[in-house]
Amino acid sequence: MNSVPSTPLAATSETGICPVCRDDLYNFESPEFAGRQIAIVRPCGHKFHLDCLATWRIDYLTCPVGRTTIEVVEAEILTLPPDWQCQMINAAKVGDIGTIRALLTRGANVDADKTVGNTPMSQATFNEHYDVLLLLTSWGGSDPIGFYRLGELFHCGKHGFPKDLRKAQGCT
Ligand SMILES: [Zn+2]
Ligand SMILES: [Zn+2]
Repeated sequence: MNSVPSTPLAATSETGICPVCRDDLYNFESPEFAGRQIAIVRPCGHKFHLDCLATWRIDYLTCPVGRTTIEVVEAEILTLPPDWQCQMINAAKVGDIGTIRALLTRGANVDADKTVGNTPMSQATFNEHYDVLLLLTSWGGSDPIGFYRLGELFHCGKHGFPKDLRKAQGCT
């Protein structure tokens, strides 16, 4: 990669910018960040959004920065941001399912280490973000408050939930 690059793309990945789309690699504030995995190409070690790199690789065998042949693409193992519990609770309150999914895929505890009644599941329940509630449950969330509400919803088919179970449960 010390040879003269034949590409106009600048080696900006060290500053946290994706060289392909010029957007932040790590933008915790933005819902757009959610689920955007980071790819590291080897041997040169440049970083990109995984989806940006995938688009680039349709046409090229080489790294967009420096034109080294890409031999291996690794997914970066991301750690949780320091205030992840706060982020998770807030996202559950406002129904920001993207942020929650992003935190979960980074290894966040589904209950954000909170006690029953204060968990993301509870917050999603109180604020009627049932898509978030379902996601958290599918990730192993077990807050009884969330479960109780979920049971109610399935039972009576409220809020667009499937009503298949209504007859079986004797719901009118
Ligand atoms: Zn990008
Ligand atoms: Zn490179």
